[in-house]
Amino acid sequence: LAADLPAVIDRALEAGLRDIALPAIDFDSLQGIAALHHPTLRFHAMAGIHPCDVPAEPLDVPRLEAWAALPQIVGIGETGLDYYWSKDLIEQQKTSLRHHCRIARESGKPLILHNRESTTDLWDLISEEQDGRLFGVWHCFTGTLDEGKRALDLGFMLGLGGVLTYKNGLIDTYIHEFPKDRIVLETDAPFLSPVPHRGQRNEPAFMLSVAEKLSVLWNTSLDETARITTANARRLFRLAP
Ligand SMILES: [Zn+2]
Repeated sequence: LAADLPAVIDRALEAGLRDIALPAIDFDSLQGIAALHHPTLRFHAMAGIHPCDVPAEPLDVPRLEAWAALPQIVGIGETGLDYYWSKDLIEQQKTSLRHHCRIARESGKPLILHNRESTTDLWDLISEEQDGRLFGVWHCFTGTLDEGKRALDLGFMLGLGGVLTYKNGLIDTYIHEFPKDRIVLETDAPFLSPVPHRGQRNEPAFMLSVAEKLSVLWNTSLDETARITTANARRLFRLAP
């Protein structure tokens, strides 16, 4: 999105967005998002190393801790496990995730969890690390009703994005089982564009389509859906109104 960021920001503001929380995937991206500033659209950076970006050699944990401790960093992530892209560094992914969990507990900041073909291991590891202090987002949630309940029981909110608008998305049938105050909206940009933008590069303005779909499922107005999910996100990341 960096190449045409001013236009992306204009469209986001037009869509009604005011705050964007941005997870990092590595130290370079972290530096990039931490440098973002705009007079109207508020950017909030997170510190983390994505499971697909964990190094084979030991992670620079002190560097991650130093970033995570900064007051302007609103969350720890994205972290988690991903066995879809590669199973070569599973031990490194798990070690990295445990560091992120500890940093989240110690900093009191929310954890952003990525999960791809790794659900059982992720549950086991988060259950071990959960001492009552871990909370955050089970990001890009696309699982079953039971998986959603388990993520909620583990202390996490469910992050919903473009998949919610897909016809094969099962979540339509049980979304009403999840408390409304445990749902946040996200993009996963540049991936997973919602209908009617499917196939295009995803960007923040498209979140409106996800909110519209959620308001249909919740049988409430778009304004009310926006109010609830915005309040959830602001509470989670401790953002000023
Ligand atoms: Zn992810």
